[in-house]
Amino acid sequence: MKTNFHEQDSKIIAPTYAKANVDFTHGNGALLFDSNGKEYLDFASGISVNALGHSHPAIKKAIWEQSEKFSHISNLFPNSPQIKLAQKMLSLTKFGKEKGKAFFCNSGTEANEAAIKFARKYFNSKDEKERVEIITFESGFHGRTYGALAATGQEKLKEGFGPMPAGFKHVKWDNAEELQKAVGENTAAIMLEPVVAEGGILMPSKKFIETINKLKKQRGCLVIADEIQIGFGRCGAISCSELFGINADITTWAKSLGGGLPLGLVLMSAKIAECLKPGDHGTTFGGNPIACAAGLAVLEIISKPKALSNVKERSLQLKNGLEALAKKHSCLGKVRGSGLLLGIECKKPVADVIAACREQGLIILRAGTDVLRFLPPLIITKTQVNEALKKLDRGLGKC
Ligand SMILES: *Cc1c(COP(=O)(O)O)cnc(C)c1O
Repeated sequence: MKTNFHEQDSKIIAPTYAKANVDFTHGNGALLFDSNGKEYLDFASGISVNALGHSHPAIKKAIWEQSEKFSHISNLFPNSPQIKLAQKMLSLTKFGKEKGKAFFCNSGTEANEAAIKFARKYFNSKDEKERVEIITFESGFHGRTYGALAATGQEKLKEGFGPMPAGFKHVKWDNAEELQKAVGENTAAIMLEPVVAEGGILMPSKKFIETINKLKKQRGCLVIADEIQIGFGRCGAISCSELFGINADITTWAKSLGGGLPLGLVLMSAKIAECLKPGDHGTTFGGNPIACAAGLAVLEIISKPKALSNVKERSLQLKNGLEALAKKHSCLGKVRGSGLLLGIECKKPVADVIAACREQGLIILRAGTDVLRFLPPLIITKTQVNEALKKLDRGLGKC
């Protein structure tokens, strides 16, 4: 008899997720297979994690080779995969030229916790001790631990969890006037996702970006860009804030960074790194050698012009295909997003559409309340995008 993972799961795993009843057994590239041998096109990538799809040979090799040496030594000693990954990330972003530095951790929320701590520490070390306020945006998402949750602009995620850490203010997304009013002398940082991902795939306007850069200059506050979902090649460039011209002092990374292993990263300008000293922050596992080796293997592939141009070409193909489907299915609205983080508004209950697509062998996600979200691996092919569009068409027809 086949094991039903879903049944076992619901008996013993805390119910913080509404899990789909699918027993995935293995994956290969953009494909996933379940225990009935059914094949799925994975347009979720483990929530923007598997940039190279499943079971990529370069990642398997990197993991294996590092595990033959050691899997963990702690941050009391330098480790070579961590140094190599930091060097490559710095060299591919503006922080390399600015003599910036890297801090590794294990996840997105931890990267944001570190970013918030470093921003406050920076002003504290300049004797501006009152300057602790972090301004973030409604609909934004920065993580589930208390600091990152306090930074998150969606009130429903905080309900029932008691008092949040103080010093966070939320402003309407893409509203330059409101932002201008909110920034004051105690503002330490403006913190944003270059593209609001979980909260509904919302793009920033040019005016909004110009206002952020102007406020940074005028008021001397820092800018933190949370690139956790959209960065690392997904937008068609390594850094989305740089692509959009957002002048960030700190950027945070996770999700696809570790090639499927848990890994987070903060890149910071030199002036921020200079105010940190031993003991200020720490993590036992952060920058784990195996995760960093896997991350380096991913970065070596996705930073190649060929891979980044695939992202741009497939993005256009998927966008055009979705727009064509919107003409046929009246429940579909506007397409939004950047690179291979695309969404389309949907008037039908999104959960039903996602389930119907899964029946057709296509895995997609939700963003906000009424947006279908597409996050294929960055190595997705032209044929696979066409196939996904056909499956979506059939799924929509069934619900
Ligand atoms: C997923 C995500 C996070 C949180 O990352 P975790 O690894 O789940 O802690 C933070 N910010 C953004 C933009 C994200 O998409």
